[in-house]
Amino acid sequence: TDPAAIRNFCIIAHIDHGKSTLADRMLQITEVVDPRQMRAQYLDRMDIERERGITIKSQAVRLPWTVRDGDRTGEQVVLNMIDTPGHVDFTYEVSRSLAACEGAILLVDAAQGIEAQTLANLYLAMENNLTIIPVLNKIDLPAAQPEKYAEELAHLIGCEPEDCLRVSGKTGDGVSHLLDEIVRQLPAPTGGDAKAPARAMIFDSVYDVYRGVVTYIRVIDGRLDARDRIKMMSTGAVHELLEIGVISPEPIKSPSLSVGEVGYLITGVKDVRQSRVGDTVTLNSRPATQALGGYKDPKPMVYSGLYPLDGSDYPELREALDKLKLNDASLVYEPETSAALGFGFRCGFLGLLHLEIIQERLEREFGLDLIATAPNVVYRVVTDDGKEITVTNPSEYPHGKVAEVYEPVARATVLTPNDYVGAVMELCQGRRGVLQGMDYLSADRVELRYTLPLGEIIFDFFDQLKSRTKGYASLDYEPNGEQASELVKVDILLQGEPVDAFSAIVHKDKAYAYGTTIASKLQKLIPRQQFEVPIQAAIGSRVIARETIRAIRKDVLAKCYGGDISRKRKLLEKQKEGKKRMKMVGRVEVPQEAFIAALSTA
Ligand code: GDP
Ligand code: MG
Repeated sequence: TDPAAIRNFCIIAHIDHGKSTLADRMLQITEVVDPRQMRAQYLDRMDIERERGITIKSQAVRLPWTVRDGDRTGEQVVLNMIDTPGHVDFTYEVSRSLAACEGAILLVDAAQGIEAQTLANLYLAMENNLTIIPVLNKIDLPAAQPEKYAEELAHLIGCEPEDCLRVSGKTGDGVSHLLDEIVRQLPAPTGGDAKAPARAMIFDSVYDVYRGVVTYIRVIDGRLDARDRIKMMSTGAVHELLEIGVISPEPIKSPSLSVGEVGYLITGVKDVRQSRVGDTVTLNSRPATQALGGYKDPKPMVYSGLYPLDGSDYPELREALDKLKLNDASLVYEPETSAALGFGFRCGFLGLLHLEIIQERLEREFGLDLIATAPNVVYRVVTDDGKEITVTNPSEYPHGKVAEVYEPVARATVLTPNDYVGAVMELCQGRRGVLQGMDYLSADRVELRYTLPLGEIIFDFFDQLKSRTKGYASLDYEPNGEQASELVKVDILLQGEPVDAFSAIVHKDKAYAYGTTIASKLQKLIPRQQFEVPIQAAIGSRVIARETIRAIRKDVLAKCYGGDISRKRKLLEKQKEGKKRMKMVGRVEVPQEAFIAALSTA
């Protein structure tokens, strides 16, 4: 295809503002999907994406289009649409997808207005020098206020309110006009050099059981032919090309991909780590000398221990993690042993959603029952003798000889209606946040910028924000360096023995609250035993909270007054079942749910 007849664009929006629905309408209007095959969220292929209604992996689709109206009526073009994941955990993938485009549709729900991720994505698009087409979506909704939000949007990006297009992804209203405007307003990818050595940027890479790794690329210079041998510029690894082609929206083989084109390639490698997002593909026979910018190793921000509920499932868990890793270069894990939970893995994730998704996939796709320990961030600890330790698990925290501790910090943006500014500030201050700036986006909507310890955001911050603002505030954050803090490790002891799975690293002003909360929760969750069980929270050897579970004689049969044998048997069976879900911690039986309940709401 002549680059002048290509338009590469993405759709960026806050979550739920309608990207996937709009993408569906585009597939329909351009007739690339047979009407009988059409289903909602066509491009979200993973079960979990469909059920949660979120996009995790990017998708690229080629849409042939003939302009319908205006001065360019009849002009034939190829539109490459890239649907991007909208969640903060996957920002790096979003930014790579953006780098593969010349333009972006900035989609805003006409009943909601601008939200935190609208801004975050807009800034990413601007950093990538994309041409932006502002679009208000869901104009079919009775609650839509397109006039009001066109003002807001125009003010934000510096255009006229009339420049904001209006569509409904649901009814299809305005979508054909939007496609025409993409052709008119977005630049064609004419900047590349067709004669130069080939360079293509990888913006996504997925593992397919049948075909191995499928790599999505945008050709910047030169041309890739189906018979070439390609070279990954970051590693120098050379692979045979088995297939190249375009997605429309099913894969279609093609003999070559040239300047400006978007498509896929398959080399037969089995591990996405060999074909990483952001890397540059070139030809082995005539390699480029300079890689395209933008390759970054994903860095885990949140760690959690994953343990099989049934210890004998450990080998299955290892195998399942190995398989998921083929499809997710950002997942890291290593074996770990917990005195309380047995054998498991310490896993690193990009964020909380990433953790949830991996846990859910392990349970669903591999049939495992898992316990995830409370998530924690990564601490850098400098000891008295000048050694530096990276702590990804509270149990590794060196006792007594800590000189300095550094915790990761995030830059957070909260958008909220005026009325809730006080509530948001109170929440952020309670989480050790520092206000960096505040702007009015319109008369009644405020943008608050804070720096906050990342560790304070990963525990129920988002839920708190939603409940304190009746759901109206939105949040976006990104990691932004580290700071020295006064942190301590709080241990929880049962009968004088510390239980590793309950330890946490917290700010010293919050240690007391953490200790009392956990101790009293455990006091309620752990059933009485044959002996007294003291529960203590301690910092080093200093006890800061104490509860006691009193002893009972647990003679269930005594209640039956003899006689009814079947009732006796039932009781015995019940007691046995109760036992199965207990973990022995020292001499104390701790029910499985104590680990989950005490940790998840800490
Ligand atoms: P995404 O998270 O940006 O991909 O958003 P989705 O496309 O999944 O849409 C989120 C929700 O908004 C879904 O319930 C859609 O059915 C609904 N939705 C999307 N577009 C429209 C629209 O134009 N009108 C109405 N009424 N609902 C819409
Ligand atoms: Mg979506």
